Amino acid sequence: MNIHTPAAQLTQTTGAPEKPSRAEAEDAIRTLLRWAGEDPAREGLQDTPARVVRSYEEFFRGYAEDPVALLARTFEETEGYDEMVVLRDIRIESHCEHHMVPIIGKAHVAYLPGTRVVGISKLARVVDAYAHRFQIQEKLTAQIANTICDVLQPRGVAVVIEANHQCMSTRGVHKPGASMVTSRMLGAFRDDPSTRREFLAMISPRSCTSVEA
Ligand SMILES: [Zn+2]
Repeated sequence: MNIHTPAAQLTQTTGAPEKPSRAEAEDAIRTLLRWAGEDPAREGLQDTPARVVRSYEEFFRGYAEDPVALLARTFEETEGYDEMVVLRDIRIESHCEHHMVPIIGKAHVAYLPGTRVVGISKLARVVDAYAHRFQIQEKLTAQIANTICDVLQPRGVAVVIEANHQCMSTRGVHKPGASMVTSRMLGAFRDDPSTRREFLAMISPRSCTSVEA
């Protein structure tokens, strides 16, 4: 699978390489345990391959989800609401496709409605559907923005993701405090500096403190 694969193809199972059996996947975990220096037959590890495979079913459930379908149900009765819709601090749990270790962070998603709006939880589900795959953060950011843009046809879409990569914090250069920030701005968020500024102010940690007042 490469970065240019359209969203629709990502969710097809027919074109994908044949899926190995559960037993084959568990055998692969035993091989990795032996590679690390372990005895997969010792008591504490006996159920580990089955647990790891079940964990993979959770971590990578996004391959079975269709982000386009998640956004299909929209609402047109908006009483003329045409301001920005922002969902911020959406937790991201993904896995780096280079090292297969976690990427943990948060996403902020905004759009400027055209004629249709979508249930706000659907934006979070689109984030999850793409995050629960092997990813690089740049591709994840682009896929979320492009899908919202294609399906909702809004006047603009903005996605910002900030995340920590365990391939950088627990190995390699060992920089646990470093986070990576990526963004994709489309339509008005790209073309209109005041729209972009408004969005960036809304997702800044200091904004909306009056909510608690
Ligand atoms: Zn990595």
